[in-house]
Amino acid sequence: SPMIVSFGEMLIDFVPDVAGVSLAESYAFIKAPGGAPANVACAIAKLGGNAAFIGKVGDDEFGHMLANLLKKSGVNSDGICFDKDARTALAFVTLKADGQREFMFYRSPSADMLLKESELKLDLIKQAKIFHYGSISLISEPCKSAHMAAMKAAKQAGVLLSYDPNVRLPLWPSPEAARDGIKSIWDQADFVKVSDDEVEFLTKGDPKKDDVVMSLWNDNFKLLIVTDGPEGCRYFTKKFKGQVNGYKVKTIDTTGAGDAFVGAFLQSVAKDPNLFNDENKLKEALVFANACGAISTTQKGAIPSLPDKAQAEKLIKEAK
Ligand code: ATP
Repeated sequence: SPMIVSFGEMLIDFVPDVAGVSLAESYAFIKAPGGAPANVACAIAKLGGNAAFIGKVGDDEFGHMLANLLKKSGVNSDGICFDKDARTALAFVTLKADGQREFMFYRSPSADMLLKESELKLDLIKQAKIFHYGSISLISEPCKSAHMAAMKAAKQAGVLLSYDPNVRLPLWPSPEAARDGIKSIWDQADFVKVSDDEVEFLTKGDPKKDDVVMSLWNDNFKLLIVTDGPEGCRYFTKKFKGQVNGYKVKTIDTTGAGDAFVGAFLQSVAKDPNLFNDENKLKEALVFANACGAISTTQKGAIPSLPDKAQAEKLIKEAK
């Protein structure tokens, strides 16, 4: 099946073994592989798709563990580089009692930030049907230039560009720098997925209002999607817009729900790139993506909870 290449960070989240504590209060941490673009690649592979990941990790225990996990998950790992000097990125993450997520990063710099343009496997990108990326890889050089070069190569080869920005304020010099950085590549994408919170951050407006969302529209886009946790998602194209309900499940950990959603949606696009033009097909793909996002919240960790096709279809059928 057509290949989807996901570009960006792969790292380890250290998550408290119990929920609802601050990082300072936490006694023990569980190692949870992550990094949104790596999660997306795993989501696609789990659904039987053809996924590759491009990014850099440290030539250390954690870096090799992550690369092996991707391989084991069925992701093409030819594009992974190992940095001799810098360590694999670490993030300490907790969901506090008030529901807010607290992050603490170890990147000084970490290997993912050191990916160079000369290390890119451009052949992989040019062969792809879809090139997917986030915004963490835009924060510092040389990775930023590698990201821009990879996007350019994809665009020139006629590959669809998929963008899922993530706001991680502690990683940027200032909120303004984050906003400008995220928006700096905005008009390049064919498909953009944002969450309600990201719409609010980018527009300073009410994300529930369609005209606020549409202020993010660019005429190069084929589709803009706004996800809203358990409520599902909204979609916007040149011709139509609408909403698709989410699924009720026993949620334990929402980490990576957006990545499961995006992976599932991209897998549908890879199979049928025309679904952007057909509202019924688009809705069907979003129903499937919502189901995958929902299932991913029913177990701890971003990658272990990713659903296969049968699990997603079962949830859809049962909810009917
Ligand atoms: P993250 O950054 O945590 O990966 P996100 O903020 O990008 O996620 P969300 O809006 O939280 O994205 O979730 C993406 C999709 O996953 C939603 O549109 C929905 O379909 C599904 N989802 C997320 N949380 C839940 C939940 N608690 N119950 C059911 N479905 C959910």
